[in-house]
Amino acid sequence: METPNQFIHSATIAIKDIGLQTALGRGTTNAVNNRIKGMGELPDAYDLRQQARGARLRALHRLPELLEQLEQNLIARGVTVLWAQDAAECNQHVLDIARQHAVHKIVKGKSMATEETKLNDFLIAQGIDIIESDLGEFIVQIDGDHPSHIVMPIMHKTKEDVRDLFVEHLGIAPTDNPQELTAAARVHLRQKFIEADMGITGANFAIAETGHLVTVTNEGNGRMTASLPRVHVIVMGIEKVIETVQDFAALVQLLTRSATGQRLTSYVHMFGGAARPDDPDGPDHQYVILLDNGRSKIHGTQYAESLACIRCGACLNTCPVYQNVGGHAYGWVYPGPIGAIITPLLTGIHNASPLPHASSLCGSCKSACPVDIDIPDMLLKLRGDLVEEGDTPFLITAGIKGWEVSMRSPALYELSGRAASLGTNLIKGKDGQLHNLPSMLGNWTQYRDFPPFAKKSFRQQWRERKTR
Ligand code: SF4
Repeated sequence: METPNQFIHSATIAIKDIGLQTALGRGTTNAVNNRIKGMGELPDAYDLRQQARGARLRALHRLPELLEQLEQNLIARGVTVLWAQDAAECNQHVLDIARQHAVHKIVKGKSMATEETKLNDFLIAQGIDIIESDLGEFIVQIDGDHPSHIVMPIMHKTKEDVRDLFVEHLGIAPTDNPQELTAAARVHLRQKFIEADMGITGANFAIAETGHLVTVTNEGNGRMTASLPRVHVIVMGIEKVIETVQDFAALVQLLTRSATGQRLTSYVHMFGGAARPDDPDGPDHQYVILLDNGRSKIHGTQYAESLACIRCGACLNTCPVYQNVGGHAYGWVYPGPIGAIITPLLTGIHNASPLPHASSLCGSCKSACPVDIDIPDMLLKLRGDLVEEGDTPFLITAGIKGWEVSMRSPALYELSGRAASLGTNLIKGKDGQLHNLPSMLGNWTQYRDFPPFAKKSFRQQWRERKTR
């Protein structure tokens, strides 16, 4: 498993991995095209984005108050609400609930929050059987792998990879037909749903005014995870709360169009308590765990806007860095441009110092984001924090210091310009371009040429012209 601080090393390996490049090329191109088509259908896309942004920022502004309102409405619906300050507390709550209800088998729907807390590893170590029910998550689980995308966990795998896995783990005859592969997983998982004592899901939104928790899925696994087992546990980050159903109506349209290009996903679940006496199905008990895990430290800082993210994945798909290195290189749960902000903030900036630099600042992420989060601006601010805290590569610090010194002295500035001109003209190629800068500067010319300096600087030419 990579770590965020190994980003450059992991990315260097990733860009040479032909299988990964094939999967990423297909996956991100399809996702970008689908989003553009889906959003293009909206006559009022700009206004809707601003409405959605307003909804998220308002909710963040009133976060403590809305969480209390949500808690009260959940309790009124008979839901047990638990608060978890960090990953350990969250996992312990799940274990306590499991023990209280004599749970031995769990099915889990897609949940990034439980990826953060490493819930699966924790429960398996306690002797509890837990299986992922989302197809992508199921595939990474049987492969002993990790998701590489927040919406499409197997963005890094090809259809052929999945075929080989299913032949090995599910004992099926080899097939490249996606429908047959999906049917094989469905048969395997159906039995798991029937046997499970507890279901765990995440939540895309939590509506404070009604006490409903919403998930959007395409596979129907969310509904089965939530309604077949006796106990349903929802683990959600505290930032998922929104004010009203009306806000949800705006946000859900943008979430699904930005994530997969769909007008709406196949299933939109609104969970609002355990089964009532006259309900034909549903769990006997429902719990909600509200996970902080560093979010309240971000709230109120210049990075609070990052909490407005609705996890659509659009910024990942459109990012030229993600498109080339994939999700694993980022070394934690959240990859791509938003991951390059959230990971340093949640895990500690010194544990993820290469990530704010993993961007060309082209702005494609901001233009794709359905809630218009200013990702490039926050990446720049994080780079500033790294400099303030002295966590910058020596070459950059030395280069900037040298530039600062020469900029303060006109004579020194001119001298350094002449030296650079002389040096680059000595080593330029026959075509007049620099293909191989020496030493560590060679990283620059590894993938592109460097134009040599002009023989005479602007100042020299200006002086000569004035003396003519
Ligand atoms: S930052 Fe914006 S584009 Fe990226 S995942 Fe979050 S909501 Fe989607």
